[in-house]
Amino acid sequence: MSTLSNTAVLQELAEAVRETKHNGHGQPANAPKYVYLFSEVEQAEELVNGSWDSVRGLLGGKGANLGDMTRLGVPVPPGFTVTTEACNAYLAAGETFPAGLFEQLLDAVGEIEAQTGKKFADPSNPLLVSCRSGAKFSMPGMMDTILNIGLNDEVVVGMIERTGDARFVYDLYRRLVQMFGSVVMNVPDEVFEAVITTQRKQAGVATDAELSASDWQMVTQKFKDIYRTFTGHEFPTTPYEQLKLATEAVFKSWNGRRARDYRNAAGIRHDLGTAVNIQTMVFGNMGDNSATGVAMSRNASTGEPEIEGDFLFNAQGEDVVAGIRLTQPVEDLQQSMPDVYAEFEEIAHKLEVHYRNMQDMEFTIEQGKLWLLQTRDGKRTAQAEVRIAVDMVEEGMITKAEAVKRVKPEQVDFFLHPQLDVMAVKSAQRIAKGLNVSPGAAVGQVAFDADTAEMWAKEQGRKVIMVRPETKPDDVHGMLAAEGILTSRGGRTSHAALVARQFGKPAVVGVGELEIDLESRLMTVGDMVIKEGDYLSLDGTHGTVYMGQIATVVPDFNNPYMLKLLGWADEFRTLGVWANADYPQDAARAREYGAEGIGLCRTEHMFFETHRLPIVQKMIMAKYPNERTQAINDLLPMQRGDFAALFRVMNGRSVIIRLIDPPLHEFLPSHDDLVRELDDLKVQLQHFHTIKEIDVALAEIRQKQDYLERVVALREANPMLGTRGVRLGILLSELTRMQVRAIFEAAIEVTREGVIVKPEIMIPLTAHVNELHVQQTTLEAEAKLVMEEQNMTVPYKFGTMIEIPRAALTADEIAEVAQFFSFGTNDLTQTTFGISRDDAESGFLVEYQQRGILTENPFATIDAKGVGKLMGIATELGRQTRPDLEIGICGEHGGDPKSIALCHKLGLNYVSCSPFRIPIARLAAAHAALA
Ligand code: ADP
Ligand code: MG
Ligand code: MG
Repeated sequence: MSTLSNTAVLQELAEAVRETKHNGHGQPANAPKYVYLFSEVEQAEELVNGSWDSVRGLLGGKGANLGDMTRLGVPVPPGFTVTTEACNAYLAAGETFPAGLFEQLLDAVGEIEAQTGKKFADPSNPLLVSCRSGAKFSMPGMMDTILNIGLNDEVVVGMIERTGDARFVYDLYRRLVQMFGSVVMNVPDEVFEAVITTQRKQAGVATDAELSASDWQMVTQKFKDIYRTFTGHEFPTTPYEQLKLATEAVFKSWNGRRARDYRNAAGIRHDLGTAVNIQTMVFGNMGDNSATGVAMSRNASTGEPEIEGDFLFNAQGEDVVAGIRLTQPVEDLQQSMPDVYAEFEEIAHKLEVHYRNMQDMEFTIEQGKLWLLQTRDGKRTAQAEVRIAVDMVEEGMITKAEAVKRVKPEQVDFFLHPQLDVMAVKSAQRIAKGLNVSPGAAVGQVAFDADTAEMWAKEQGRKVIMVRPETKPDDVHGMLAAEGILTSRGGRTSHAALVARQFGKPAVVGVGELEIDLESRLMTVGDMVIKEGDYLSLDGTHGTVYMGQIATVVPDFNNPYMLKLLGWADEFRTLGVWANADYPQDAARAREYGAEGIGLCRTEHMFFETHRLPIVQKMIMAKYPNERTQAINDLLPMQRGDFAALFRVMNGRSVIIRLIDPPLHEFLPSHDDLVRELDDLKVQLQHFHTIKEIDVALAEIRQKQDYLERVVALREANPMLGTRGVRLGILLSELTRMQVRAIFEAAIEVTREGVIVKPEIMIPLTAHVNELHVQQTTLEAEAKLVMEEQNMTVPYKFGTMIEIPRAALTADEIAEVAQFFSFGTNDLTQTTFGISRDDAESGFLVEYQQRGILTENPFATIDAKGVGKLMGIATELGRQTRPDLEIGICGEHGGDPKSIALCHKLGLNYVSCSPFRIPIARLAAAHAALA
């Protein structure tokens, strides 16, 4: 196609259309309305029955709001929107304008001409327009804006005469050729920029602002040469052709690579299409009483109610973001243009009230007159989100329910953990991504084992990131001393993840790309090498790992806005929020965060404490009953102390204590470790010099041999399905009795102190009601005994975890014995799917999710159709037997917003989660209630 003939055709067509219009003939019958003037937003609204969401769908976000602002009486340069339907029709027809579209476009141009008194292609008073894309959702990747459409050689001459400012006009012209060339025709922008740089050098000036009219004229000339060379066409000289080509380019950009990729990543549908906005140009570059800028109606980082933004005197829109000139803070306008600033403040407020949200606005001042070019809900930090929501309630702009709904549960994290500074992250080097198992930021030096981590942190006051392939119980001291934890293996419920969450340590686990070489004390990611002692920054909130030290921002749970918002959330939610806490200090934190009870205290965690482990091992290794009894008796005062401390912290609230759960061999060193250590010891024997040394070594060998023997005896082919939970408690009734005794002695002890205790004793892993009968008998006898000894009765509840499908399916029988249920959804998910979470999460589950076999990780969010169904059945059956049955959930899912919504729907009484998830759960429970 030759540009010339095309131009001629367009010109003719434009005139022909004008003619028919004057003769009273309209456009082709039945063509849908593809074009809406900004002043016609109400018609669009009528068409879609008043739904603003659909107006945005039709006109795009930018177009809908331009129309909306026009209706509100905000000064907006006149213009019109070509609908997303037109875009879809254009693309469907193989990239040709659908019938009627061009005519409607011309009509609309005619309307703007009438409104502005300017005319397209009229040198004496030309209309210039911008062409702007605008989809329903703001989308990077869509076509950039083209400004100053409507200029050509004749128009330029006329405009110079009229304005007397040749520099201004040539600057506009070169911008048009440059933007049109790069945006519509894909000429590389660097080529244009190189010309400007050369021109500056030639003119001997440092900035664009110093270039003269003739400089810009020469630049424009060069730009046209470049355009011709790269495209094989002349730069289009008629405004209609410029407009048509620009509109088509916007349509086409909807299917561009960048836009498609973005939509895939953001989960935006591909069939929405984009709208195109054509708008009269206003000029911020007409001298020193002109300006252009962007501003937020409130501070986007802190939420403070003050206008915040940047602007430039004597500039056009894109200069502000392009960063070629240093911008000024928007408050400066207060001095230089007080009236304009006051008007802007008024408009900002009006828009906030209208949209009930903080606004992000673009404006231009043309020779002292203010124009708004865009408004949309502003992006903001979590901190600002909370503050703005609360302030807006207090200003009467939104309701408490709206405020609560507006803040996402994950945003609460900001107030609980340090976070990486958003600005600093932008320039940081990201090296890997893994599972985001424990939120917050951690910055420190890499240490490859627990002892090094602890020594560096405790003795040398260094900040440490502990890096391991995976972690084990004897790594805990290092994990506690570290700022954050990074592992190359393991999933969401791996040891590292559980411990990290429990102690609020940021952690990224399962980073498969990490090759850790413990021998050489270094790790590699691709061809990058990181040595022990090098700095890393972890973002546990998103699961990313960065090189070096990135600045962090400090958390502030006592933020008054946050507390107020959570208080409102509590007014709406009907679901209780309890905590999983094993230690008094965790319980104290949980209460601070608003926990209403302890939903799970894992007693075996108390057994793992370093100085208790030998006693526990003695109990397991005992050859004679009295030896075992002795060990168990030694554990009694310790457990009693633990429980008493927990009861004191939770004064007046329920505390659910779960009797011992894991299989015994977990308390002994691992089989493989023992074998290796024994081999080593035997080799070493040859090198000893004194009998004493040999004796010590022999004793150690004997002990390890005993351990090994016991480990082998206790070894099970499938420990996950072996002697755990209630099965263990039934076999070791002595242990059950000791734990029960500890609970009741503690309860009585603290009752005497004036503490109100509400113990609930929970049996793990029940599958059959008869198991509960056995445990109930043991428990009742021991409880009675203690209460008689102490001459005091303590009310208590007896209940069970539901974590085996059989238990869920026979919940009616189980509820005859159990006074409460607690869903152990980690195990329930494992046993329902028949998969082991530790193996799955770092193994096939990853591929399952990649291939879409499972859309979500069932260990992160409850599988509603399967596991959720079992929970529903158990709840219904259980309450048939016992209407007042208390039902909660204590799996990891208890802190996951989606799972919380499910628990709300199923009618559970409470969710229980780790202390650090409590505020998130409170908010998520409110969202569920408000949904
Ligand atoms: P983006 O989505 O990239 O912000 P916009 O379409 O909003 O793209 O426009 C880019 C810049 O051009 C903005 O600063 C905008 O205010 C400015 N702009 C767009 N249309 C006009 C116009 N008609 N008059 C003056 N400036 C405009
Ligand atoms: Mg914009
Ligand atoms: Mg379990």
